[in-house]
Amino acid sequence: MTADEFRRHGKALVDWIADHWETLDERPIRPAVTPGQVRDALPDAAPERPEPFSDVLADLDRVVVPGLTGWQAPGWFAYFPAMASFPAILGELAAAGLAQQGMLWSTSPATTEVESHVLDWLVDLMGVPQTWKTTGPGGGVLQMSASDSTHTALVVARERARTGGARERARERTGARAEDQVVYASAQAHSSVEKGAMVAGFGHIRLVATEAGTHAMSIDALRTAIATDVADGLTPAFVCAAIGTTGTTAVDDVRAVAEVGRAHGMWVHVDAAYAGSAFICPELRGHADGLELVDSYTFNPHKWLATNFDCSVFWVADRQPLIETLSILPPYLVDSASESGAVIDYRDWHVPLGRRFRALKLWFVLRSYGAEGLRAMIREHVRLARELAGRVAAHDRLELVAPTPFALVSFAHVDGDEATTRIADAVNASGHSYLTTSVLDGRTYVRVSIGAPTTRAEHVDRLWDLIAAAT
Ligand code: PLP
Repeated sequence: MTADEFRRHGKALVDWIADHWETLDERPIRPAVTPGQVRDALPDAAPERPEPFSDVLADLDRVVVPGLTGWQAPGWFAYFPAMASFPAILGELAAAGLAQQGMLWSTSPATTEVESHVLDWLVDLMGVPQTWKTTGPGGGVLQMSASDSTHTALVVARERARTGGARERARERTGARAEDQVVYASAQAHSSVEKGAMVAGFGHIRLVATEAGTHAMSIDALRTAIATDVADGLTPAFVCAAIGTTGTTAVDDVRAVAEVGRAHGMWVHVDAAYAGSAFICPELRGHADGLELVDSYTFNPHKWLATNFDCSVFWVADRQPLIETLSILPPYLVDSASESGAVIDYRDWHVPLGRRFRALKLWFVLRSYGAEGLRAMIREHVRLARELAGRVAAHDRLELVAPTPFALVSFAHVDGDEATTRIADAVNASGHSYLTTSVLDGRTYVRVSIGAPTTRAEHVDRLWDLIAAAT
């Protein structure tokens, strides 16, 4: 493809994407394909000869679109949002076009410095501790997913417990063996904590009981679990507080969890994968009290900050233990800028070596919306969710099963699981709206998550009409 052809096809593709977004609500929100149907529409072998780009574009419509799910559609109320936006899409295009590989500062200074700077901006925008800036002792890095961020934190915690935390002994593993170390998270924590602990080789994970009503981690149960483990000769190494659990957006008491964790020398991590975006609104920051006590924190702009997947922020209060744990220096990566100590080499901040220019899309989003645009977006989603929660609460056959601190409404039918499932089935049969169910304390409930970029009040009204008719 020549540069001229690229110009032409690129414009056609951008037009195609804009058309696709403008017609999202006209297509089924869930694809009507059977397993294997998409593959069956593809030839058995890769093309031997070049094909015209117009054929490739046509196959987006023929092969791909019928197998798509409407994550950006106005009727998307399932799971959590995986929000995209036009500025983010353009940022992604720019990143692909610049085609950088920023493993070291030297291999792409702009990739590193824009990322550091944008994440320092976010420290101010989100009201998290100033020490998390790269200009201070801590710093931020973009990872692919919150699961990666949490896994990274777990690995650092494991090494700290193995070395007794002494920096100069970072490679001397004289402390507790991983098999004897314990990870704590609430029973409502995302499965990525358990998975990360498994991958990092921890011997024990305790899913701590939660409080009735709030579904937040019970601090008494946490203390009891730790005391039992210590009495058994185990080493508490890592505790994760959740701000916005996946099930119901429950909020753990970060300050209390962190105080208990620190008292036992544990690494304290916060998983705010979904809810973290809300803290761009100062009035919602009450849910984030105690962050100055934590070691690491993750949140996903790719969920609720209009930045398409993948874009997960990982902040640490002190970058030294992270770098000491993950840096390895083979001869082919020796670099004078790295040796000067004046630069950040993000390869030492996570598992992958190679890294792309993820910050560009976030930079585009922050500049295109402005902080006030993003605040307005979050506030509208929260407003719509609370309004819907009010309608649910006022209905005599529906019952909220959890509070709505952000933009998730969790409710059930008073007649039981069958009646609740019937509501979800009726909504999902509409073709234009989609929600999911989950189970809490043995009871099935409906989750309505408001946060797709195209969702407006009229779409929530349309959803409510379906819910009310099926109740
Ligand atoms: N943590 C929480 C609270 C989540 O809700 C999710 C996903 O929904 C994750 C972690 C995992 O996020 P990711 O897909 O970025 O790994």
